[in-house]
Amino acid sequence: MRIRDVRASLIEIPYPRPFVPSWAPEGKHRVMAAVVVEVETDAGLIGVAGGDMGHGSGPLLLATIRDVIRPLLVGHDLFATEHIANRLRYVAQYFFPRPWVVGVAVWDAVGKACGRPLYQLWGGVANEVRAYASFGEVRDPAQRADDALAAVAAGFRGIKLRVHSATVAEDVRQVEAVREAVGPDIALMVDANQGAARWRYSPDGSRLIWSLDRALTTARELADLGVAWLEEPLPRHDYRAQRALTAASPVPIAGGEHNRGIAELTRLLEDDCFDIYQPDANESEEIHALRQFGAMVAARHRRIIPHAWATGLGVAGNLQLCASLEACGWLEYPYDPPVIVPEVFQVMLAEPLLPDPATGAVRLPAGPGLGVTLDRAAIDELTVQRV
Ligand SMILES: [Mg+2]
Repeated sequence: MRIRDVRASLIEIPYPRPFVPSWAPEGKHRVMAAVVVEVETDAGLIGVAGGDMGHGSGPLLLATIRDVIRPLLVGHDLFATEHIANRLRYVAQYFFPRPWVVGVAVWDAVGKACGRPLYQLWGGVANEVRAYASFGEVRDPAQRADDALAAVAAGFRGIKLRVHSATVAEDVRQVEAVREAVGPDIALMVDANQGAARWRYSPDGSRLIWSLDRALTTARELADLGVAWLEEPLPRHDYRAQRALTAASPVPIAGGEHNRGIAELTRLLEDDCFDIYQPDANESEEIHALRQFGAMVAARHRRIIPHAWATGLGVAGNLQLCASLEACGWLEYPYDPPVIVPEVFQVMLAEPLLPDPATGAVRLPAGPGLGVTLDRAAIDELTVQRV
């Protein structure tokens, strides 16, 4: 079976109100932008995938698909996925750093051709994955306590908070308020979003750069609150400091969501930078290579819990990856009402991926590949550019 065409649409999903994520406090986001990729085969199968391209890079990916990826993949054997992964690595090195969503669409087509969900092709045994509610904004402690209680009422057994305040004390106050509200049995994760230079600003626009000392101080405070992990407390290429922090921290340290390519991920692992590695199927490396990376992580007695802040289609790819990994344990589920809710970020799916209200787990769809069906009318309505 050969690839006949590679197409892509840039969609913009309007938010019900401007959203101020902790990693971009200078800009009020009015839409979630995403690229929807379709890989069509000569048998008429269409593999789909979608990533979050909220950093203004959607048009660049579309141009790269049109000018570079399509000529490289049209006519290619669909099942020669290692060769396809290498072609995407070539694209990542010379043209556009995050072409991986195309690889997810290729694998969706492979799954459809085989009549099996991807996680089953990859030997996964979990047919559901616990979802944690991943908040995006920094809000005041009382508000966040209310938000957390509402998330627990919706079924979530884990919640990720964003800390991006001027002082450690303010950061800790938010986590304290939420812990007090939800009690000891709900997992709390804390994301500092210090991985990228652009993210290291306070809501007032001033610089907010954590030192190794602040990261360790914060980790020690969070240990008393039973925090499951502290995420991205330091710049993502600061291997030496990350290793030192992980060695000294009383809470697990997580990161790697935007480290790119298998070489960077392997370097992080060899340097023992994290307790928990968080590559993303749409943004970090070819999805099947991430499953292989997961085996390397497990061999080092570390954990891999993919990053999945994306549209519903982007979450769908990472869900398959999570379910194929040994002891992944958690699915990142974007959730920050009233803005980030399934009706908004999953609008392109005919059937949204929803956590079970009793257990907080998301079941793997029964269909082949990613197991999702696109709402074509919704996508057409939201499309702002197509190649
Ligand atoms: Mg993160």
